[in-house]
Amino acid sequence: MNKKTIIGLFFVLLGALFILVLAVYFVQEHKENLEQEIYQDEVHLMQKNLASMIEEKKKSTTAIALTLASNDALQELFVDKKKLDDKLNSLIFAFRKHTNYKNIWIHILDKEGNTLYRSWTKKNDIALDANRKDLAYVMKNKVILSDVSVDSFTLSIKSIVPLYNKDYEFIGMVAVISHFNSIAKSLKKVGIDSVVAVTEQASAAIKYPFTEMYIQNCYIANFDAPQALQAYLKNNNVKQFCQTATKITDGYIIVNYPLKDYDGKTVAYYIMFKKISAVSKTGLDYFVFRWSMFAIIALMALAGTINIFYYFVLKKQKVYYKNILDNSNNIILINDRKCVVDANKTFFKYFTKYKSIKEFREENSCICNFFVDEEGYLNKGEKPYGWMDIVLENPQKTHKVKMKIEDKIYYFMVYISLISREKNHYSVIFANITEQELYKKELEKLSFYDALTNAGNRRKFEEKLSSEMARSCRYKDPLSLILCDIDHFKEVNDTHGHTVGDKVLREYTQLVNSLLRDVDELFRVGGEEFVIIAPHTTKESAALLAEKLRKAIEDYKKIVPITMSFGVTEFKVCEDEESFYNRADQALYEAKKSGRNRVVVK
Ligand code: GH3
Ligand code: MG
Ligand code: MG
Repeated sequence: MNKKTIIGLFFVLLGALFILVLAVYFVQEHKENLEQEIYQDEVHLMQKNLASMIEEKKKSTTAIALTLASNDALQELFVDKKKLDDKLNSLIFAFRKHTNYKNIWIHILDKEGNTLYRSWTKKNDIALDANRKDLAYVMKNKVILSDVSVDSFTLSIKSIVPLYNKDYEFIGMVAVISHFNSIAKSLKKVGIDSVVAVTEQASAAIKYPFTEMYIQNCYIANFDAPQALQAYLKNNNVKQFCQTATKITDGYIIVNYPLKDYDGKTVAYYIMFKKISAVSKTGLDYFVFRWSMFAIIALMALAGTINIFYYFVLKKQKVYYKNILDNSNNIILINDRKCVVDANKTFFKYFTKYKSIKEFREENSCICNFFVDEEGYLNKGEKPYGWMDIVLENPQKTHKVKMKIEDKIYYFMVYISLISREKNHYSVIFANITEQELYKKELEKLSFYDALTNAGNRRKFEEKLSSEMARSCRYKDPLSLILCDIDHFKEVNDTHGHTVGDKVLREYTQLVNSLLRDVDELFRVGGEEFVIIAPHTTKESAALLAEKLRKAIEDYKKIVPITMSFGVTEFKVCEDEESFYNRADQALYEAKKSGRNRVVVK
């Protein structure tokens, strides 16, 4: 991974982290708001629920009171209290048995407001309570009234209906009373606990407290007010508590609903407690889910965008590098040491026969099929792709290869490097060095070969002589030298000119070369002086060879007839170069001296 990629990745991660933090922050922030909203909704629901339950209660008690008031029999019963008691008691019994009104109470009063019947007590002697303004109001105005009020016993919902006789004279009132216990019970079913607390002022009017429960002088009107909540209200000062409508605290949503009497005065507080843990948070869960999904989708979109971006960047880079590779003068191959996997365009400039690498592969398992085995160059070798081992194992050396491609000879420098360990992919670069290599060969030729005759020059002769002497010395193998010189060559030049002389030199060199064995080699060591190194040859054999050459030259007679004198000698075991050469020179000298066109062996 390069530095750029690491920096890129770092920024991507930073971006992803930023989105996550943003999402978490957003959810947290809005979660709290949403939670508050949910709680507020719950508060409204609780208030609405309670209000409608109270309203319902008022309506049904009014209906009952009206039904009772319209019953003619009731007026007749006014005169006979015993019958009135029996009748109403059995009516209440029937109510309890056949309806949901288990705690419905009836209060009958005469036109002065004196109690004729109270279903819950025999205390009929209690005079019209000063607090019972509602009764006084009905008595005075002859209207139907349904309200919440405090009497001597408790806080209750009362529906008061005026009573008339057959002559439409006002004769009294029927009050049907219901308590908050049934409402508290219904609310309990939906997880709401109730404490119905009468204000301190209104509580003072209660002489016979029905529940006998108080919190700081505030009468508690419902029997099922939980002890723990009563204690809680006590500890938190119930009076002060009553002044705030809603509280979300201590794991509860606390809703304080004021209960007002017929002229709008608050006489009690219906305090509802709902555990926060019991509040349905489906909306909240959905919100968190929605935003989590949003964060995930945003992250995926980010990842996708980056992917696409990198895809195009990589594609562009790929095209860019491919262009570089294709425009290289070098052949660049990818191979897995089994076959050529890929190649740049340059490859096809050499191998014009193939249109694709696939076609090449079908015919050639290895590019080494095109190698020309020669000393100093990589050879095909026994092992397929063994030439790659040689290059890889000797990185400090330069490796060259000679190739014959479509009948042309090329020389390449070879560079190999591993580019993928998993895929075992290697890049092989063949850099064309044909021009340099041919030039080098030309220079070599110029420094080792005579330009006129193409025979090896003195330097080449000395090199060859010393290596052959060393070989002969080591293997005790015979080695002979034949020195030869054209007779009276000065005259040839003088008579026919230098150009003819040159032609003679070229022509006769070719003749001599054509008569030599492969192992023998001819060198031009002076103007018209030559020497032959004859390996594995005794002086007798060398003399025979010299004689054969002498005769052939004499008989050749091309351009200008010439003759040559020969001095032959054999290498004496491990003698030095000078004495070996001098002996041959001595023999030649003797051949010249003794009349030329002859062979002298020494
Ligand atoms: P000898 O039989 O004693 O060898 O007589 P010679 O004339 O061959 O020997 P000498 O050494 O007197 O002369 C050699 C001549 O070879 C001199 C020169 O004109 C000629 N020669 C040497 N090198 C060249 C060459 O490259 N081209 C031509 N045309 N002549 C050359
Ligand atoms: Mg000569
Ligand atoms: Mg000479």
